[in-house]
Amino acid sequence: MSRLDPLAYLGDQINEFRVKGTYQRLRELHGPCEPISHFDGKEVINLASNNYLGLANHPKLKEAAIEAIRQYGAGTGAVRTISGTLDIHMELERRIAAFKHVEACVVFQSGFTANAGAVSAILGKDDHIISDALNHASIIDGCRLSRAKIHVFPHADVAGAEAKLAALDGVPGRKLLITDGVFSMDGDIGPLPALVELAEKYDAIMMIDDAHSSGVLGRNGRGTVDHFGLHGRVDIQVGTLSKAIGVLGGYVCGTKDFIDYLCHRARPFLFSTSHPPAVTAACLAAFDILEAEPERIETLWANTRYFKEELAKLGFDTGRSQTPITPIMVGEAAEAHAFSNALFDEGLFATGIGFPTVPEGKARIRTIVTATHTREQLDRALEILARVAKRQGILTATPRP
Ligand SMILES: *Cc1c(COP(=O)(O)O)cnc(C)c1O
Repeated sequence: MSRLDPLAYLGDQINEFRVKGTYQRLRELHGPCEPISHFDGKEVINLASNNYLGLANHPKLKEAAIEAIRQYGAGTGAVRTISGTLDIHMELERRIAAFKHVEACVVFQSGFTANAGAVSAILGKDDHIISDALNHASIIDGCRLSRAKIHVFPHADVAGAEAKLAALDGVPGRKLLITDGVFSMDGDIGPLPALVELAEKYDAIMMIDDAHSSGVLGRNGRGTVDHFGLHGRVDIQVGTLSKAIGVLGGYVCGTKDFIDYLCHRARPFLFSTSHPPAVTAACLAAFDILEAEPERIETLWANTRYFKEELAKLGFDTGRSQTPITPIMVGEAAEAHAFSNALFDEGLFATGIGFPTVPEGKARIRTIVTATHTREQLDRALEILARVAKRQGILTATPRP
């Protein structure tokens, strides 16, 4: 007996992506993530990674990882709550808590599981979440998993957030006000001081996802809470070890009881195996570098300012970015992907991003400069961007003198 493939409808969807020009093949990285990397066998300037500080291929992280493999092996053999908690897992959590000036910290397998696991663990169906419209997918999934009622306010709109909170005044249930610290597709910083005041005024739990701020903003990269001087006023801080820290993982910071609770109820912590020793040891080495070499962060910001100024002079629309994440707005997804592909052919890798990652009509390429890009590499990138954008009709404005 034969039957039709019950998954055939997915092939139809894929064909639709191809027709729309949004089908994406994965580019293969041959070798390490560096300012100049080899993707698909071609040498390109890499403006497509989150490796802000150049730690992903740093000799000290690699040495720490190799040494941990020699000492502990390749894997841990269990989830954290059974027998998969290593002494270095605990050391990393103490280290992050001290770094962030909080009582306690728990590390998850990724930033994604940190957000999804924390939000879904602490709220239930009678509770309320007040959430920025552009919050990361992992926050949205955590909110959905919690079964709390979700109230979305327009992006970065403090008055909009207040209207949602005011409407809930006196309504039973707990309230969680949640925002990204830095928004991953636009590179803008959330209005955190004003949101923290709202959380205090309306007695809501305040949560910030600092994935793109960890290692980038605040003293030694302590994040947005440090950047804005909001210590002690943010109940839940999430960070990632996968971006500027250069390795893999996510963490949640807060009070001792809150973190203890997550260790008993956050599902990714209970039901998914812990980080291998190499990952944890490399993360520890990364925090050594953050504390010892703050000049890396200064170089990251100097490169960021230079790149943004030059893009503006060329007439590019970079949206509302305030951080090393600099989008170049294009419009339609197919155009953004075509632009990205043409740049790649000329030796520059910057990812095209379209719906559903960003709203329809807001497609862009996303660039991220790092501390390890040289001026010469950035100048070469700018030259390629200008040349290809003119050819593709993306850059029509006359450059500023
Ligand atoms: C990347 C990102 C995450 C997920 O972090 P991973 O460690 O890569 O899973 C969460 N939140 C935001 C805002 C992000 O940009």
